[in-house]
Amino acid sequence: MDAEDARSHLEAERDRLSGVRAGFDDEGLDSSETDSVGELSSIDQHPADLGTETFEREKDVSIIEQVEAELADVEHALQRLDEGTYGVCEACGKPIGDARLDAMPAARLCLDDQARAERQARFGE
Ligand SMILES: [Zn+2]
Repeated sequence: MDAEDARSHLEAERDRLSGVRAGFDDEGLDSSETDSVGELSSIDQHPADLGTETFEREKDVSIIEQVEAELADVEHALQRLDEGTYGVCEACGKPIGDARLDAMPAARLCLDDQARAERQARFGE
């Protein structure tokens, strides 16, 4: 893959992810919302509503965590582009492949090593 193509891909992805994260910030995952949950629980009239709100918040937080992890991967890939190591598997040193980089511009591992890493994450080493 052409380095400049990869860079524009990654920068577009970074902008998109930043936008997603900013969108969540606008919805106000901040202390004022925590306060309102605190009030609800002290009144304790609507336990079902409180449960739903807690669930929604946990979902939002996990989405933000995922977005931030993806952003970190994109930043990492841009750094590797600068260093000239972009597109090479970090585990085995072989090319990751254009098709995979097209689909996942921030990929750090080739397909084989990605599958191995996911198996290890699931079952432990
Ligand atoms: Zn590999």
